[in-house]
Amino acid sequence: MAQVKLQNINKIYKNGYHAVHDFCLDIKDGEFMVLVGPSGCAKSTTLRMIAGLESISSGDLHIGDKHCNDVLPKDRGIAMVFQNYALYPHMTVRENLAFGLETRKKPKDEIERRVSEAAEILEISELLDRKPGQMSGGQCQRVALGRAMVRKPEVFLFDEPLSNLDAKLRVSMRMRISRLHDELKQSGRPATMIYVTHDQVEALTMGDRICVLNRGAIMQVDTPMNLYHKP
Ligand code: ADP
Ligand code: ADP
Repeated sequence: MAQVKLQNINKIYKNGYHAVHDFCLDIKDGEFMVLVGPSGCAKSTTLRMIAGLESISSGDLHIGDKHCNDVLPKDRGIAMVFQNYALYPHMTVRENLAFGLETRKKPKDEIERRVSEAAEILEISELLDRKPGQMSGGQCQRVALGRAMVRKPEVFLFDEPLSNLDAKLRVSMRMRISRLHDELKQSGRPATMIYVTHDQVEALTMGDRICVLNRGAIMQVDTPMNLYHKP
């Protein structure tokens, strides 16, 4: 069970700036939730608090049935995909994919199996011996998605993962991520996905539900249908 529950979450940065105002949001187990809004509305701050990369000033965060305010990032059952890929430049694709599993002391054969499984699904098997510097942005982003995938997290966090890609690649990556969400659901191991974007089309096409943010406040939470297609 990996429901993600934000109860009256606030973020006040050290300089006194009140970035997140009393967020209450119930993200269901296996749901694809998009956080959308203009630059500066606190999408990234919110995601980073869920990831444990930013402290929570007040309120309660639950992931699954666990109170997570003070839980280390690595113990939250999450994996994050960043805009800038965040791959290790000196490692090959294979090593990048395996790294998070090796640090978790997974058996070697299981690591190999998970890496080749993810590589196959993402069509990067032929890139396994390359380093990030020898790949295109789209290829790097597939590896970044693969690195999250191999960990089999209960929750995926995406921080504007497609904004450095050209329009055509954006569409194909969008479909890839949606398909991954569907496949995990069908396999009986659904993953909750929380996806941050400023792009309304992306929000509309990907989200089971959309949370609309503005200036650090939640404006609306609803399905794409109800938000955009109501007469
Ligand atoms: P978004 O991801 O929607 O673009 P952010 O979460 O990055 O928005 O930022 C939300 C607000 O918090 C912005 O006004 C930003 O300037 C401010 N902010 C972000 N990080 C810090 C920080 N470390 N210290 C102070 N203010 C910050
Ligand atoms: P570990 O597997 O020991 O957690 P990682 O380097 O894979 O080592 O990740 C360290 C922590 O940083 C993760 O547990 C996670 O909380 C956070 N993190 C989230 N997404 C990523 C990511 N894509 N790559 C690296 N770290 C991530």
